[in-house]
Amino acid sequence: MPEGSAFAARQAEADGGTDSQSPSPTFVLFGPGGAGKGTIAARMVEEDSRLWLSRSWTTRARRPGEPEDAYVFVDRPEFEARIEAGGFFEWAEFIGNLYGTPIADAGPERDVLLEIDLQGARQVRALRPNAVLVLLLPPSLEVQEARLRARGDDEEHIARRLAEGEEEERSGRALADHVVINHTIEQATADVASILAEHRAGGE
Ligand code: 5GP
Repeated sequence: MPEGSAFAARQAEADGGTDSQSPSPTFVLFGPGGAGKGTIAARMVEEDSRLWLSRSWTTRARRPGEPEDAYVFVDRPEFEARIEAGGFFEWAEFIGNLYGTPIADAGPERDVLLEIDLQGARQVRALRPNAVLVLLLPPSLEVQEARLRARGDDEEHIARRLAEGEEEERSGRALADHVVINHTIEQATADVASILAEHRAGGE
């Protein structure tokens, strides 16, 4: 093996070696619903062409007004068939719906960003110990509740997500490498970007 690729190969091995030749670690944005993960992740990839955001599969119905490409929306049998076929890097059940990161090739030039829940973050940590896990938290329960309501979640889901959110914060803090509080989109995006820059291989 040529000397120049030794680091990449070592890193790919430490990284799980399955779907990426990128020497950067896998980046994970996780945290409770209403923290603003989706908005921050979208901003990150908009501002950074080297970053590749994995599009998850879900059995959840599309919310009114939610973009068609927010997820790959499938029914439960289709999702379960993909589990059987070993087609997910990780998957989890969250409030009655299945969510999963498909095994996909981001290409060697791209750094992978996953936007997932706590259970998914745990699986990524187990599969890729050098992954960089960033916990994103809302500044308060009130703000989180307002964000969930604004995006059209029904009341039952809001209550369940808030209850789950407390546990997600406790366990998430224990798991995370970094914690970012989403006071404003601009500040939180800048904070996450500087964390990525710190851990990236090969510089900008
Ligand atoms: P929502 O229904 O609000 O879009 O997502 C519910 C939760 O599932 C969020 O915490 C979201 O980050 C998480 N999620 C989205 N995609 C995935 C995925 O591929 N894997 C896992 N484990 N969680 C996901």
